[in-house]
Amino acid sequence: YRSFGIDRTNSMGINLANDDQLRALAEQVNAAARTDWRAAPLVPGANVSGSGLAVTNPADRREVVGQWHPADSATVELALKNAVAAQDAWNATPAASRATILEHAATLLEERMPQYLALCTKEAGKTLADGVAEVREAVDFLRYYGAQARKLFAPEALPGPTGESNTLQMSGRGVFVCISPWNFPLAIFAGQIAAALAAGNAVIAKPAEQTNLIGYYAVKLLHEAGIPEAVLQFLPGDGATVGAALTRDARIAGVAFTGSTDTARAINRALAARDAAIGVLIAETGGQNALIADSSSLPEQVVKDAIASAFTSAGQRCSAARVLFVQDDIADKVTSMLAGAMAELKVGDPGLLSTDVGPVIDEDALSMLKEHAARMDKEATRIAEVTMDGDAAHGSFFAPRAYALKSLDQLHKEIFGPVLHVIRWKADQLDAVIDAINATGYGLTLGIHSRIDETVDKIATRIKVGNCYVNRNQIGAVVGVQPFGGQNLSGTGPKAGGPHYLPRFTTEKTVTVNT
Ligand code: GLU
Repeated sequence: YRSFGIDRTNSMGINLANDDQLRALAEQVNAAARTDWRAAPLVPGANVSGSGLAVTNPADRREVVGQWHPADSATVELALKNAVAAQDAWNATPAASRATILEHAATLLEERMPQYLALCTKEAGKTLADGVAEVREAVDFLRYYGAQARKLFAPEALPGPTGESNTLQMSGRGVFVCISPWNFPLAIFAGQIAAALAAGNAVIAKPAEQTNLIGYYAVKLLHEAGIPEAVLQFLPGDGATVGAALTRDARIAGVAFTGSTDTARAINRALAARDAAIGVLIAETGGQNALIADSSSLPEQVVKDAIASAFTSAGQRCSAARVLFVQDDIADKVTSMLAGAMAELKVGDPGLLSTDVGPVIDEDALSMLKEHAARMDKEATRIAEVTMDGDAAHGSFFAPRAYALKSLDQLHKEIFGPVLHVIRWKADQLDAVIDAINATGYGLTLGIHSRIDETVDKIATRIKVGNCYVNRNQIGAVVGVQPFGGQNLSGTGPKAGGPHYLPRFTTEKTVTVNT
């Protein structure tokens, strides 16, 4: 598939450095914010009643922003029946028509950016800059998979002996379940769905329980763009009632999942245990991502990129840097500059333009981070902790911090939040550093800071990760530019926003005719 030039362009950005543009956008976002957003299953024929569960703002838990209704078991069963009934007609719809609908959805989403930014801020605690990136990535996924489907589904004539015609045709696999994470509640949610739909599959989308509203309004938009309601159904609910019930069902052809490695394993077991076709699992999971800086790197640049990589989105990215391995010759300088730069970070209301770091997603995330910090305060040396202002008291806020560690063994698992760990290494230890990173078993992102080509080549060759970034930050992979996803404990591949992702949602058939 490498040869498929995928013909489209990424969405235009907003110049967040332009104060007038930024203020105008912030006003539109404020005007779009509501307190009566509502999410419920979008399943033709389902009954939704009652008042629902409150959704609160992570930055201020006193603020109710909407209600959501979890799906019950009867609604799950109805969704499965609807999806199976809708599958064949959708699969028979020409790929170009499916692509046109996805591209129309992309345009609608671009036009309605303020509404989705307001949702991202109020439900997921995203800063305005993160929200803009989120909407743009969702738009890019819709266009990318749409454009790719146009090419991929055109039957291809294969060379063969005289007297025979051979064609290779691709089609959808069947009903897909898309289970998405709260940290990219629009981009990854829409990306999984867009790929599955573009390939000709009916989709049942289960959003993360923390971000039902964003998922609901994204699905409404896709319906408005033209996706039939039975082809794309929305099933919010808890993992046991909805996620587990769907993934063990024999009517499911595959699952696209982004979340924890443990849940990916559980889904894999559920798919394998069915008395049914072998299901496909496309999983993007966690990371224990490192940044290696050697003595030839520029301390200012290392610190700038370490801060962006560790603390953007309050560190709640799978791609975020968790461990900075810094060579001892520059370690004192980097450490003191890091502490100085962290003191400038503003933690607070993600709706304010001055905010760099917003809240973490919920109280569970907060208590896990506090527990980790308590252990680090005993077992490591604190380099810096950002001071938060009083407004943070009502939200799920965690002050970004950095610790000096002796070895990677001191981290037992992925820490999903704004905590950076710093480890020093000596000139003769580069191989040991690479081995230690590979030994975590994760393999998502790696940052390299060095001005020595041989060192860069050596690290990039030996390291087992999906996305390697040299002399820049290691977050914010762009659709079609840095296809994103890892290996080993970090995911099954293929990479989202890359040429090999969509084909995993398809099945191939050759037709040979004796002429
Ligand atoms: N694609 C995102 C990035 O490059 C990370 C996705 C995730 O956290 O799951 O930062």
